[in-house]
Amino acid sequence: MIRSNNGMFGSFGGRYAPEILTPALIELERLFFSLRDDPDFWREYQTLAQQFSGRPTPLTPCERLSREIGGAQIWLKREDLNHSGAHKVNNVLGQGLLVRRMGKRRVIAETGAGQHGLATAIMAARLGLECRIYMGEDDIERQYGNVFWMRRLGAEVIPVATGARTLKEAMDEALRDWAASFEDTHYVLGTACGPAPFPELVAYFQSIIGKELQQQALSQIGRNPDSVVACVGGGSNALGAFAPFIERHDVELVGVEAGGRSREEGQHSIRLQEGTGEDGIAQGFKTLFLQDADGQLGHTHSVAAGLDYVGVSPILADLTQRGRLTPDSATDEEALAAFETLLRYEGIIPALESSHALAGGFRRAAQMSPQQHMVINLSGRGDKDIFNVARAFPHPDWSAFLQRELARQPDFTTQTTQGESATDVA
Ligand SMILES: *Cc1c(COP(=O)(O)O)cnc(C)c1O
Repeated sequence: MIRSNNGMFGSFGGRYAPEILTPALIELERLFFSLRDDPDFWREYQTLAQQFSGRPTPLTPCERLSREIGGAQIWLKREDLNHSGAHKVNNVLGQGLLVRRMGKRRVIAETGAGQHGLATAIMAARLGLECRIYMGEDDIERQYGNVFWMRRLGAEVIPVATGARTLKEAMDEALRDWAASFEDTHYVLGTACGPAPFPELVAYFQSIIGKELQQQALSQIGRNPDSVVACVGGGSNALGAFAPFIERHDVELVGVEAGGRSREEGQHSIRLQEGTGEDGIAQGFKTLFLQDADGQLGHTHSVAAGLDYVGVSPILADLTQRGRLTPDSATDEEALAAFETLLRYEGIIPALESSHALAGGFRRAAQMSPQQHMVINLSGRGDKDIFNVARAFPHPDWSAFLQRELARQPDFTTQTTQGESATDVA
């Protein structure tokens, strides 16, 4: 169980939100603290996840792949098989149950790549809540598929035209909305970041991944795995998979960040490794942020939109500082190679985010013995990445439709984050 010390994880975390939002955050925290040890609440959550999202997701042994890599036995925790195709729906369903308990009738969220917005719109439709999603205008262009479905699901998608017109501006607008509406509205945060209690709360709902994984490992392997590997954007799928093993020091925990094109400033999204992220306070919490020489939030890049974030969960920053988490990274190119390997050897189409965990995992597994077992958390499926993958593997036989789409689609991989000072209180 992941517990903060008054909202702090070592020297990270906290609640640096505008004062007007304090009552809403405290209301949420009180409710969460009163429910998190209640087995009936966990059962209610599990039942919803089971009946609506197909849980438990399987733990799949990868025999052909393990033989090819030539080291540890590789297993995949199949979060790609969730309804909506990724782990994000776990957290969103859990927050939906809290919204019901608080008697609120409306949810808002911000989204960059659109996956969290889509999951939120799905939850709102299922639970009968009004839903508004804030999204940068440029992201709306890039993610027209997700935007289409969010609107068909009944959500209102609000284009944000200020600044760089991406995730950060959308987050500012969502917070402005919440400050005026928290009496009847909940802000659904998508990852284990932001002001307390969000990091702890999101990690709690995602721990359903690790709880299942541990039970499945005990019955299918006969013991805990030797190593658990996950990709790290904000950190929620990693924390979910790691949760039951954090105190088990015989289980190695590996978090794989986006190495992007290179180690140059602005070309990657590595925050946990030596000489990358630095302490800062922004977006309501303290963590390791990528910053430029003036302490402004830096630019980031990854071929995987979900890993392209300038900060990281304060829980992972603390675990790294304490030496419990081993940070690793995979470049765009390595992730694409691992993506291809999984398709060819196991018939599974991974998300580009998850392909980073695969790349880091394969590299380590090759150094391990066949008696050892590694679980890689497959956070999502890759259907959404069709254009980026097609761009990476050009082929003269792509259909005219795909050629046209590729020419028309802005290159998603150029997304950057910028602006706000990391030392300002958000
Ligand atoms: C959003 C996303 C991620 C990154 O988010 P975390 O909070 O770090 O888990 C990883 N994989 C997929 C498939 C995603 O959609």
